[in-house]
Amino acid sequence: MSVLTLKHVNKYYKVAGNQPFQALKDVTVSFDKGELVAIIGESGSGKSTLMNLIGGLDSDFDGEILFNGQNLGTFKEADFVKYHKENVGFVFQSFNLISHLNLLDNVTMAMTLANTSKEERIKRAKEVLSDMGLSDHIYKKPDQISGGQKQRVAIARALVNDPDIIIADEPTGALDAETTEQVLEIITDIAKRGKLVVMVTHSAQVAGHCSRIVSIDNGSIVDDKRNSEPLIHEEVKSSQPAVGNKNLSFFSAIRLALLNMKEKLSRNLLVAVGSSIGIMSVILMLALGNGVKTYINDTMNSFVNPLVTEVRMPADTQGEEAGSDDQTSLEAMQRQQQMEMQSMLTADAPFQTENLDELAALPNVKSLEKGYSLLSFGANRVAYDENESMILTFATVSSNLNESNLTAGNWPEAGQIMLSQSVADELAEDSMIGRTVTLTLTLGEQVVSREFDVSGIFGSDSDAMSGMSAAYVTFEDLNDWYQAENMTLEPNVVFLLAETADDTESIKNKVKDMGYQGSAQEAMTNMFNEMLDVLTYVLAAVAGISLVVSAIMILVVLNISVVERTKEIGILKALGARKKDIRRIFVSEAFLIGLFSGVIGIAFAFGLGYGINQFSLNVFDVPIIQIANENIVMGLAISVVISMLASFLPSQRAAGLDPVESLRRE
Ligand code: ADP
Ligand code: MG
Repeated sequence: MSVLTLKHVNKYYKVAGNQPFQALKDVTVSFDKGELVAIIGESGSGKSTLMNLIGGLDSDFDGEILFNGQNLGTFKEADFVKYHKENVGFVFQSFNLISHLNLLDNVTMAMTLANTSKEERIKRAKEVLSDMGLSDHIYKKPDQISGGQKQRVAIARALVNDPDIIIADEPTGALDAETTEQVLEIITDIAKRGKLVVMVTHSAQVAGHCSRIVSIDNGSIVDDKRNSEPLIHEEVKSSQPAVGNKNLSFFSAIRLALLNMKEKLSRNLLVAVGSSIGIMSVILMLALGNGVKTYINDTMNSFVNPLVTEVRMPADTQGEEAGSDDQTSLEAMQRQQQMEMQSMLTADAPFQTENLDELAALPNVKSLEKGYSLLSFGANRVAYDENESMILTFATVSSNLNESNLTAGNWPEAGQIMLSQSVADELAEDSMIGRTVTLTLTLGEQVVSREFDVSGIFGSDSDAMSGMSAAYVTFEDLNDWYQAENMTLEPNVVFLLAETADDTESIKNKVKDMGYQGSAQEAMTNMFNEMLDVLTYVLAAVAGISLVVSAIMILVVLNISVVERTKEIGILKALGARKKDIRRIFVSEAFLIGLFSGVIGIAFAFGLGYGINQFSLNVFDVPIIQIANENIVMGLAISVVISMLASFLPSQRAAGLDPVESLRRE
C-alpha cells in the first residue's frame, strides 16, 4: 500500500468578491516509502498548495488524501495534531527556525509539544544534530549560523520525531550550489532510510537527484516520471518510543514564555513596572486603611480597662413605627439618625433593678458597678474664679476609666472632681489640683450647682481624647446630690468587671445578645471602623482603576507579541501544537507578566510604605502604613488574574491563526 494517495483532489481558494480560484484540479497521484519525489512547475502552478494539503496544514479540499489508508479529509484537530507530531516533518525554503530559541530548543520543540521527557528529548536532538554535523553549535541561536547550517537544523527538526513523510518546499531555494549539494545528500539519505520525501524545487540539478519527478502546471499534474526505483537501502525502524497523546506541559509552556520574554526583556520589564503601579496603589490604600484603623482602635482601647464591659440600656424603641411600610426609606433613615443623635446627646435610659440583677448574674462577672454619664452641649459647665468651661462629657468615675491616663493628682473621692486636661487649661494657667470649682448641671428640669475640689487631671496632651472636655465625680456624690434635690439617681450605665481580660469578649457578646448596648465609645469605634472600611475600599477601588490601564497595556503588548510571533505560531502548529498549546504559551506569558508586576508592585509598596512610615513616625509616633499579609497575597492574585484575563483575547487570536497563512508571513 502506498504511504500517500491523492484521489481527485480539487482545491479552491476563496477570493473576496470573486469566483473561488481553483488552485488544484483533479490531482490523482500516489507515493511510496523510499521515494524521493521532486515536484516541479512554474511559480503559481500550485506546488505549495499541494504541499500544504498533504502536510495536513490545510484541510479544506475536495477529493481524498489518504495517509496509510486514513483520509485526511475526515481528520479532527486531534488527528491532525497526531499526524504532525508523528507522521510528517516539514522543511521550508526560509528555514523557519524560531529565532529566540537555540538550535537544541528548536530541534526539541516537536518533542516538547509531545511532552517527551527532558533527557530523551536532549539525547535524541543531539543525535540528530550530530548526524547533521552540527554538534558544535547546539547552543547557538539561528542567526549565529550560516544558511546551509540553518537548513540542516530545520531538517534535524523535521526528522527528530522519526516521521514517515518529509515535506520540503524548495529546501535549497535559499542556498548556494555547494550547500545545496550537502543538503541534497542529507535528503537523499532520508529517502534511503525508507521515508517518503516530497520536495518542491525549481532547480534541474536538484530534480536530477530525485527518484521521481512530478510536473505540475496550472493546478494539474502534467507529467510523472520515474528515474529509478525507490531508494530504500535499509529501512531504519524507529527506536523512538511512540509519542503517545501527551501534550505540552505547563512547565514547558512557562519555560517557552520565559525564553520569549527574555528576548523582549526591556519591553516586558516596562510593562511589568507599569502595571505594578496599580497593584502598589491598591496595596498601599488597604495598608493605609489598616494603619489608621489600628491607630484609632489602639488609642480608643488605651482609655478603657480591658476587664470592664460597659453596658447601656437599649435605645428608645419608638422606632417600631419608623419601620412601617408607608414611610420612605429616606424618611426612616433621617428619623433613625435623629434618634441616634438624640441618644448621644442626652442621658441614656436608666437601668431597672431587674436589669441590674440579670447583668450581675452573668457568668464570669466578678462585680457590677453603677455609673451615670451624660453627653451634652452647653448646659453643663465648671467654673473657677472668673473662668468657665463647658463640659461635653459628665460622668461618674468607674473602673472603666484607665488609671494610667491620670496625668496629675489623684482619682476623685468624696467631694472631689477630676477634670480633663482641656477643661483644666481653660480654667487656669497653672495647676488646678486642690482648687475648688463650681460644677453646674441640669438635673431633671432644674439647673443646680455644687462645689468640688479638683483631685486630678485625666488625659495628656498627646492623647486623642485630651481635646474632649470632661468632668468626673464619684457615683456616691452624685447620688447624694440627687437626694438633696429630692430626686433619685438611677444608673444609666453599668460596668461589669470580668475575672480575667479573656472573659470580657464573651461577656460583651452575651450582653449584646440580651439586647443591651455597649459603650458609646465602642459604638463610635465600630461606626468609625465601618466608615473607615468603606473609605478604604473606595480608595482601593479608585486606585484599582489603574488596574484597568494595566490590563489594557498587557492586552496590547500580548497582541503585539502575537503579531510578531505569527510565523512562530505557524511553525508550532506544523510541529503538532494544539490550539490549546498555543493558548497556553501566551497565557503563561501573561501569567509571568502578572507575577512579575505583582512582585514589583509589592516591593514598591513596601519601599514607599517604609518611607511614609518614617515620616508618620516622626509626626504622629505611629506607622500609618500597615501592609497585611492577606493584602500581599491579594495583590499578587489580582495582578496575576488581571493579566491572565487580559491575555484571553490575544491568546485566543493566536490559537485561531491559520498555519498556512502564518507560515507565509515574513
Ligand atoms: P506555487 O507554490 O506553485 O508557486 P501556490 O501553490 O503558492 O503556487 O499557489 C497556487 C495558486 O493559488 C497561485 O495562483 C496563487 O496565487 C493561488 N493562491 C495561493 N494561496 C492563495 C490564497 N490563500 N488565496 C487565494 N489564492 C491563493
Ligand atoms: Mg510555492
